[in-house]
Amino acid sequence: MALDKKFNAHEVEPKLAARWDELGIHKFHVDNVKKPFYVIDTPPPFPTGEFHTGGTLNWGYIDFAARYKRMQGYEVLFPQGWDCHGFPTETKVEKKFGKGLPREEFRKKCLEFTQGNIASMKVQMKQMGYSIDWAHEYYTIDPEYHRKVQISLVRMFKEGLVYRQEHPVLWCPYCRSAITKAEAEDLPNKTMLNYLHFGLDGSKEKLLIATTRPELLHACVAVMVNPYDERYEKLVGSKAIVPLYNKAVPIIADQDVDKTFGSGAVMVCTFGDKQDVIWAYRHHLEIIDACDGAGFIKNSGKFDGVQLRDAKEKVITALKEEGVLVEQRPTDQVLKIHDRCKKPIEFLRSTQWFAKLKGNEDKIRAAAHQMSWTPAYTQQLLLDWVDGLEWDWCISRQRVFGIPLPFWYCEKCGKTYTYDEKKLPVDPAKDKPPVAACECGGALIGEKSICDGWVDSSITPLIICGWPDNEEMFKKLFPTALRPQGNDIIRTWAFYTTYRSLMLTGEKPWKDVLVNGMVCGADGKKMSKSLGNYVEAKEVIAKTGVDALRQWIALSGSTGKDIVFSWKDVNYAQSFLNKMWNASKFVEMALEGYSHAEALTQIAEGQSKKPGEELGLFVTDKWILSKLAKLVKKCTDAMNQYDYYGAICALQSFFWHDFCDNYLEDVKHRIYGEDARSKKAAQYALHEVLVTCLKLNAPISPYISESIYLGMGFDKEESEEGVQSIHQTAWPKPVVELENDSAEQAVERMHFVLTEVRKYKAGKAMALNEPLARIKVSGNEAEIRELSDYEPELKAVGKIALIEAIVVPNAEGLKVEID
Ligand SMILES: [Zn+2]
Ligand SMILES: [Zn+2]
Repeated sequence: MALDKKFNAHEVEPKLAARWDELGIHKFHVDNVKKPFYVIDTPPPFPTGEFHTGGTLNWGYIDFAARYKRMQGYEVLFPQGWDCHGFPTETKVEKKFGKGLPREEFRKKCLEFTQGNIASMKVQMKQMGYSIDWAHEYYTIDPEYHRKVQISLVRMFKEGLVYRQEHPVLWCPYCRSAITKAEAEDLPNKTMLNYLHFGLDGSKEKLLIATTRPELLHACVAVMVNPYDERYEKLVGSKAIVPLYNKAVPIIADQDVDKTFGSGAVMVCTFGDKQDVIWAYRHHLEIIDACDGAGFIKNSGKFDGVQLRDAKEKVITALKEEGVLVEQRPTDQVLKIHDRCKKPIEFLRSTQWFAKLKGNEDKIRAAAHQMSWTPAYTQQLLLDWVDGLEWDWCISRQRVFGIPLPFWYCEKCGKTYTYDEKKLPVDPAKDKPPVAACECGGALIGEKSICDGWVDSSITPLIICGWPDNEEMFKKLFPTALRPQGNDIIRTWAFYTTYRSLMLTGEKPWKDVLVNGMVCGADGKKMSKSLGNYVEAKEVIAKTGVDALRQWIALSGSTGKDIVFSWKDVNYAQSFLNKMWNASKFVEMALEGYSHAEALTQIAEGQSKKPGEELGLFVTDKWILSKLAKLVKKCTDAMNQYDYYGAICALQSFFWHDFCDNYLEDVKHRIYGEDARSKKAAQYALHEVLVTCLKLNAPISPYISESIYLGMGFDKEESEEGVQSIHQTAWPKPVVELENDSAEQAVERMHFVLTEVRKYKAGKAMALNEPLARIKVSGNEAEIRELSDYEPELKAVGKIALIEAIVVPNAEGLKVEID
């Protein structure tokens, strides 16, 4: 079976992918007792329907790790899940079908939308050659998955880690749901700072207050001043009168007040922002709900029922009429918006379900320290997030498409109830409560809220290891080996998973965390359809094939940093792969009549410490084998550290420069020559280099490596039985005995002389294979002595009849003269 003239990626890729499936080489065997396990807690993506270049990058890293670890002798579990619930699906379905579908119909539409998208993404993931074991696929919409998530909540509930309480929460009036801090985004915005005159109780004087949110005046419950602000010292303890509402509120001193903002006196409304929440609780202030869950003003009297966004203008008009609006100045603000719908969010008092984060910070920190993070600085991102925790995690969402919270509460006293975990899954919106009535006699109400999507996805490492049903498997596999994930979800996915794993198992979830950056468009911004800087993976594949795209992933720099997509880099990757194919074709021709088994027998019989010596290796052979040994070391170290950039750069530099540019030229005269022994030594080295490089390249470019490997029949030479694919072979071990610094130095000098010879010939418009009668080489004594190591090869390769060697004492570096 000869290699084709060119590598036809589009024809070969689907065939090889089907063959790998048939051979089952990506299958995980939990009963394998011979190999250590390597379990990857892969991200369950949200099924958008399209696997864009960013996803390609993430899964590229995962697949490099999976394929590499298999070659290193691990039993690898590369599962794949789908995170189906949550706002994104609901938002998309709402956009398509409008708001107001009946609950069940809406859920059905969400489900259909999800399933269709998953199907098309799977096709793309298979095409990319990701070595996923599809037998370990999971969907968060499965009743089975619901059951496990509910078990996790019931267990935490029983430990007092999940509870229901009234508390101010971040709230999206547009989505009509509580959200978490991690879902809030900052949006720089221009607005007006309004200076208002408040009255002072028992005085004719006025108090100037600046606010960007006059529409919340009706919920003003206090005025705050800094205790060290001389202007207001006397007022502390007295009362201010809120304009429009003629209501008296206390004037309170608090260190958090910024004296330089506005007039230095600020109003507290429940709630304008996070600071208001802090002040209201710190000073036990009355709480007036400023609006309802849909963002309509309430408790104001005159403005009730007006949307918050429309209320501002109306209130300002009223303030003007009353003559209390002193002035308006433009100002910059940072608006908090919901990341999904991009609409402004509010703080609202609401009864929600929480998971207890506060008090568990030290455990999370300790676990973060026990895990190895790549790149190392990403660990700090998690630690910083833990340091900044203010409240517990609000885990309930007032939405439809999600996992029901398995709880009931008493209408009268608020006591909470759940089922025994054997009875799960349940849907309290439909199912009967676990007991007929509360202890107090009150009726039980089923919780209608669903789980925050991070509740679903924060137990993935447990689920893939068999939790909570298969204890034996769980013991074998947990904690998992690796969590690969994006740098954008450290404070959510990495954080919540670490927390939940600790609460449910007492253990950290992973040994290693590998963080990838985002892929940016040519404009340097994160790729997104709305920005139009978007390149689809399938567009790249259609042009270059999968392997070039995968090489680009490895080539795109260190993991963790954001990466700009560039066609230039993809094309470079492709030209390397073409080089690899063409070099292999040369080696294929050169190996005609060569028997590797025979060479190995000869080496074994010789029992030399330096394998290959028995064959009569030339100095150039020793040079390339020495460099190969070092390359294997380098690639192995890099792969162990998830440094795919380091690995691919080392491989490309060796293969392209040392092997193709130099060594292949060095051996041509031996391959085409008559000396059988010399030819065999060269064949042995060619074979060693090519097979090793194919294996080093296999995790990153699986298709072309496999094509050459099988096409040249290397599978039949493996000592291990039953090898049918390069992906079943062992990762090369560096043969340290072959490291040979003196051979490397000699051959580098020889290549220097050859370069000079080629330059000379090019300058004289001579053909490169045209013979030269004589060259002069001068250098110091040691350099000239070394010349004898490579003189015969230099003559043969450069077609030089005579080399005149001249010793120049204390010379630095060789000089070549040709006339
Ligand atoms: Zn929203
Ligand atoms: Zn009760």
